[in-house]
Amino acid sequence: MANHDWSRRLAERAGAHRERGLWRQRRTLSAGTAPLDFAGNDYLGLARDPRLAEAMAQGARRYGAGARASHLVSGHLEVHAALEARLATLTGRPRALLFSTGYMANLGTLQALCDVTTRVFQDRLNHASLLDGARLAGAVSRRFHHADLADLDRLLARCPADAPRLVVSDGVFSMDGDIADISGLIETTRRHAAWLMVDDAHGLGVLGEAGDGCVGRTHGIDEVPVLVGTLGKALGTAGAFVAGSEALIEHLIQFARPYVYTTAQPPGVAAATLAALEILATEPERRRRLQAHIRRFRREARRLGLPLHESHTPIQPLVLGDGARVMRWAERLAARGIATGAIRPPTVPRGQARLRITLSAAHTDADLDALLEGLAACQARDAGLREVAP
Ligand SMILES: *Cc1c(COP(=O)(O)O)cnc(C)c1O
Repeated sequence: MANHDWSRRLAERAGAHRERGLWRQRRTLSAGTAPLDFAGNDYLGLARDPRLAEAMAQGARRYGAGARASHLVSGHLEVHAALEARLATLTGRPRALLFSTGYMANLGTLQALCDVTTRVFQDRLNHASLLDGARLAGAVSRRFHHADLADLDRLLARCPADAPRLVVSDGVFSMDGDIADISGLIETTRRHAAWLMVDDAHGLGVLGEAGDGCVGRTHGIDEVPVLVGTLGKALGTAGAFVAGSEALIEHLIQFARPYVYTTAQPPGVAAATLAALEILATEPERRRRLQAHIRRFRREARRLGLPLHESHTPIQPLVLGDGARVMRWAERLAARGIATGAIRPPTVPRGQARLRITLSAAHTDADLDALLEGLAACQARDAGLREVAP
């Protein structure tokens, strides 16, 4: 059959995907019956904070539900400008530029900075949007072994002398929870006259003295010229930003196609994010509660002999290896009303399927108890013991 038979193409692709056990399905949640959520990225518990909902409603009433146009036409509202100024202050940078999603921020930044002459060096475990951004630019992307500065150094040394080079890393790795060695990356990029871009999607709001992330105010634009943060995780809303020099931000406004050719973020979302940043500044106890949960989870999971990963962030993966085993654990936990992330290839390397557990300041000690009991039951069942009925 010719490959212009689209129905057949789709069916073949679906069949192969199912056969490899990679088929994924969405679960539809209603407002009232949210499970105990250990799968989301709402690390500070802000997504359901009524103050954010109220700010969002006020923003919509004041400016409209939608921004009506792109930023360069007539969609750039004062609430967007206020948010950009606040994000620049939070991260200790001269300017910040708001994007509608983190995926678009990464696509736009890499596309605007790179072209076919640029060499991009990426950690092997970088987020998909960073890899796709380099591809959009037509740039050659080399991937170094995860967190391996010697490997990065080796790749940089082989780079043609006149090629502009950009090193790109997640700040906190989204599926592993480990924090990049930012100082090491700075040192290595400096030695090879490369620029450094850090995507701190999971560090912002969680790490740093002021919730400014793993780069934030600690490392300035001379060390990390390109900083990306997202707003849909710890800040509980949606969108993302790039923070850096005046020249970088103006460059992105001119040349980042995913910035130029899209409608500006709904003003209510920007207003809600401003409210989230206010809470971030005034309620540091949320970060402290989260850190206490992380310590307690690790202590008790270690006691249970669970396969903990070397992570001290709210992302606590249990690498179970086999995709089917991960699904079994996730289903057993779901039966107890506990949602976790069942992460399989190609999101993670083959043989490293994992239960991705995420902690939040919104969890109570009793929530953690329920999770740990559920995990102990999964483990006991796997060990061939009869599971105690929940
Ligand atoms: C979630 C995530 C993104 C994408 O952000 P969205 O706002 O959800 O599009 C980008 N980078 C990393 C590291 C992420 O974890």
